[in-house]
Formats: sequence, structure tokens, C-alpha cells
Amino acid sequence: MSRPFNFSAGPAVLPEEVLERAAAEMLDWHGSGMSVMEMSHRGKEFISIYEAAEADLRELLAVPKDFSILFMQGGGIAENAVVPLNLSRGESADFVVTGAWSERSQKEARKYCTVNVAASSADTGYTTLPDAASWQLSRGARYVHVCSNETVHGVEMHELPDLKALGSEAPLVADISSHMLSRPVDWSRVGLAFGGAQKNVGPAGVTLVFVRQELLGHALAHCPSAFDYKIVSDNQSMYNTPPTYGIYIAGLTFQWLKAQGGVGAIEQRNIAKANLLYDFIDSSDFYVSRVAKNCRSRMNIPFFLADEKLNESFLAQAKARGLLQLKGYKTLGGMRASLYNAMPLAGVEALVGHMRDFEQKHA
Ligand SMILES: *Cc1c(COP(=O)(O)O)cnc(C)c1O
Repeated sequence: MSRPFNFSAGPAVLPEEVLERAAAEMLDWHGSGMSVMEMSHRGKEFISIYEAAEADLRELLAVPKDFSILFMQGGGIAENAVVPLNLSRGESADFVVTGAWSERSQKEARKYCTVNVAASSADTGYTTLPDAASWQLSRGARYVHVCSNETVHGVEMHELPDLKALGSEAPLVADISSHMLSRPVDWSRVGLAFGGAQKNVGPAGVTLVFVRQELLGHALAHCPSAFDYKIVSDNQSMYNTPPTYGIYIAGLTFQWLKAQGGVGAIEQRNIAKANLLYDFIDSSDFYVSRVAKNCRSRMNIPFFLADEKLNESFLAQAKARGLLQLKGYKTLGGMRASLYNAMPLAGVEALVGHMRDFEQKHA
């Protein structure tokens, strides 16, 4: 029996092949007599899993040598504090506020440094992106924070900003939690990028940080050692016990992604999936997308029924057809379909089929 299609924003769908492989290897990883969960993180078995995962990730995203890749814990929300603890030097940072997540990031950073909100799209209800030319970047900011895919509001920067061209010398910090590995990254524009694994990579509990090595070594004195990027980097993410099982699953996902043709190939599929859903929404008066067309997320697609009284019945009928977790974020209401890498085109076709049938019944 085939599994239902799961549109959760996170923790989210994983490739079936990854889950099957993990199940097959659960009790005995490669003849070691151990589950990956039972292995010492310093043993040769786990070190080989870790090294393969790191190398595959580096290859998939073409991460340059002068970036460290850290496998940490704490999730994106912890990074909202860990980034200023490491990069702000207690001075100031610029924030571009484009939705719920960057809003939350700037609020947390205020505990550790001075925050300058360089731009905000709050006035449009976070349905647009403020034009980069209008950002009020400040002189001397230690970094500029963006969330390049706003998971709640469904707004995506289809290109990362070129801060140098905007007159800022500061490194760009990007929260890429919900579209990591959905498309290539232009590392020449990035100082640091972070994201939790549970959206597009693996189980909750692993946080990936990509950091330019020249930014290491300036943590505030009260930064916890386990969250000091330099200490984590110097210890190959094993200063403390890393989330070993999560890293193993992430590694299987990286292998799966390579077998799919890599990030460039999956990006093309992600574009096709998102277009299918947006085109259908735009062709109908029964469903509405509120996000401006130039910044619609390919990963997280909030949409609304013109008649909100039908929400519960839309969700119940979707579930009966094997379409799970479509309910919108609590503060926005409506629906949200997350189309991560592991969501096949067939899942989006099934969703559009349900939307069409539901509209015909109720319009
Ligand atoms: C999910 C998410 C987070 C928070 O992740 P946690 O693991 O709950 O800390 C942060 N930023 C973005 C963009 C997210 O999608």
C-alpha cells in the first residue's frame, strides 16, 4: 500500500527510500552488530557515517573550502541567539524583516546586540519583499540577517542579496531552514547560513551551519562553549556529542539527493511542482494566494479558500484522500502546502485534483 502524501511544513516528509533504508539498517548497521543510535560518536563506524555525510553535503551544495560545515543542535530558534553570540561582538546587526521568522530572529538578537531593522514588509502583511535598493543598511553592522524562505508567510528570495553591490561590507547571514538543498546557493554572497534539518533534510535535532572560517573566533565571552562556532568547527562538530542518528538520516537523504541528479535537478522539479499548484490557484476564484508573484515560495505555499467556512470540510476530505497536514499556520489560517524535495510531483497532482473536485462540489 502506498503511503499518503504529507504536506507538513516541518517536521516534514522524507524520501521513502531513506526511511526504508534506515528501517533495514535499524538493528545492525553494515554488519557492525549495532544500531547507529548505539554507536560511539568517536568510533570508526560513526566517523565514517559523519565524514560521508559532510562530504556529500559539501558536494551537493558546492560549499567552498573556506566554509566550515557544522552539525549542531538547537534548531533555527537557537541560532537566533547563537548567531549574535558569535558574530555581533556586542555591537550591531541589520535585519531585513520579511515574515514571522525574520521577525522572531531580530527580536531574539536584541538580547545580545543593537538591532537595526533595515527593511520590513510588515505593511503588506508579509506578502511582498522590500526592494533591496531600499534597504537602510547601517555602517558598521557586524552582519545582515535575512530569512531567504519565510516558512509561515510563503515568501522566498529567489536570489540572495549582493550586499557589496548595496554598499555594505557586512557578511550576509541567511536563515535557510525551509529551503536548504532545494536550490543551489551562491556562496560568494554568504557569510553564514543555517537551518534545522526537519524541513528538507532529516529528523528534528540536527542544525546545519555553514560559516565562512574568517568569521570564527569572535564569540562573546558568555557564549556557551557548545555554541561557539570556532570550538565546534575545531572539533569537527564533536565538541559535544552530536545528534548522531539525525546526522545518519541526513546522510541518507544526501545520498538520495545525489541519486536524483543533485540540487540542480531537484530545483527543476521543485519549480515544476510549485508552478503546478500556483497556476491552479491563479486559475480559480475559489482559492487565493496572497503572496506577490515575484517572491512566491516554491517550498511553502499558503493558500486560502474564498469561503473560509469550508476550511474544515476541505481538510477532512483531503485527509480522506490521503493528503495530510494541509492546515495553515495558526496565525494565518487557511491552508499551507509544503512541497519539499521529498514530495513527488504525483503528490501535487493529487492535491490539485482534490482542490478541483472540491471546488466543483462547492462553487
Ligand atoms: C522551522 C524554522 C525555524 C525554527 O526551527 P526550530 O527547529 O523550531 O528551532 C527557523 N527558521 C525558519 C525559516 C524555519 O522554517
